[in-house]
Amino acid sequence: MTSLDDLPIRDDLRGRAPYGAPQKSVPVALNVNENTHPIPEAVAHDIVARVAAAILQLNRYPDREFTDLRRAFAGYLGHSLDESNIWAANGSNEVLQHVLQAFGGPGRTALGFAPTYSMYGLLSAGTGTEWIGAPRDAEFELTPETAVAAVREHDPDIVILCAPNNPTGTPLSIETITAVADAARGIVVVDEAYHEFADPGTPSALTLLEDRPRLVVSRTMSKAFAFAGARVGYLAADPAVVDALRLVRLPYHLSALTQAAALGALAHSDQMLAMVDEIRGQRERIVAELDRLGFHAYRSGANFVLFGGVDDPHAVFEALLERGILIRDIGLPGCLRVTAGTETETTAFLEAIAAFAPASV
Ligand code: PMP
Repeated sequence: MTSLDDLPIRDDLRGRAPYGAPQKSVPVALNVNENTHPIPEAVAHDIVARVAAAILQLNRYPDREFTDLRRAFAGYLGHSLDESNIWAANGSNEVLQHVLQAFGGPGRTALGFAPTYSMYGLLSAGTGTEWIGAPRDAEFELTPETAVAAVREHDPDIVILCAPNNPTGTPLSIETITAVADAARGIVVVDEAYHEFADPGTPSALTLLEDRPRLVVSRTMSKAFAFAGARVGYLAADPAVVDALRLVRLPYHLSALTQAAALGALAHSDQMLAMVDEIRGQRERIVAELDRLGFHAYRSGANFVLFGGVDDPHAVFEALLERGILIRDIGLPGCLRVTAGTETETTAFLEAIAAFAPASV
């Protein structure tokens, strides 16, 4: 059998592993931070009607500039943005890939604060960009001082701030984001994939965009919008950044079906986001209950919780899987990560994890 090593693959990709969150069919899947609530049926019907209309025109290429969709995202985000500030792609992973293609590349560096979203390193590798994982403070927090010191030390071409951070859930203060944006020479991406789950009143980095042409705020429809399967991510930035991304995207990268579906979802954003408060409530329930059981739940502004105090994370992961509950072993010693699901799913997780509690209650 041919192995990867037998192929003339790029040297810098040798020995690397692909993104590999397990995909298993289980009753309770709480491992990839999806919104586990299905989209409302009335919205689904409208999306189907829009997709049906688009199908009748599939003989033609889609709008390469996806102008209607960009306008709809600008309207959703507010902050006086218009379509010239918006970019979108097949998931925010592809949005981030475009950023790395345009602003990273061989001889350039991208910096983030580890542990953070694993795709940053993989997208850097794929684009020949050197990835630098700088350390965080205690409890996975990130103060302006720590962040700025790393930026000064490494002088990266791209900084990626994950706010709140995956896999730790840690919220990132607007002070830290501002300090990094002001200290960095290069592009600063704030990945706000989970922003809608932040505590109400948490300021978005969108508030910092004015007069900062190197600041980029990336978002996704995969989480709060319950639209992961549609693959739609987007960003807001200076129109010049958007022009740079046009240089690296594939022509017509957003299919007519994707554009129609996303426009349908955005037309009903209130209904699509209706479960966010409920999910935030389940997150708080997980934090409180895990702490009561003697685990250590880290501060979360997302729809998931990282918790420590697990003796043998892999064994607990497997034991829960045997009960049909899939969570995430992200390889952090003593830690596991769980997504806040529906009330029933969350209950199933909490009942199962209680058997592994460090302290008797
Ligand atoms: N950023 C972060 C922090 C994420 O956790 C994820 C998905 N797990 C993404 C980006 C990518 O999401 P998508 O490509 O579905 O938009």
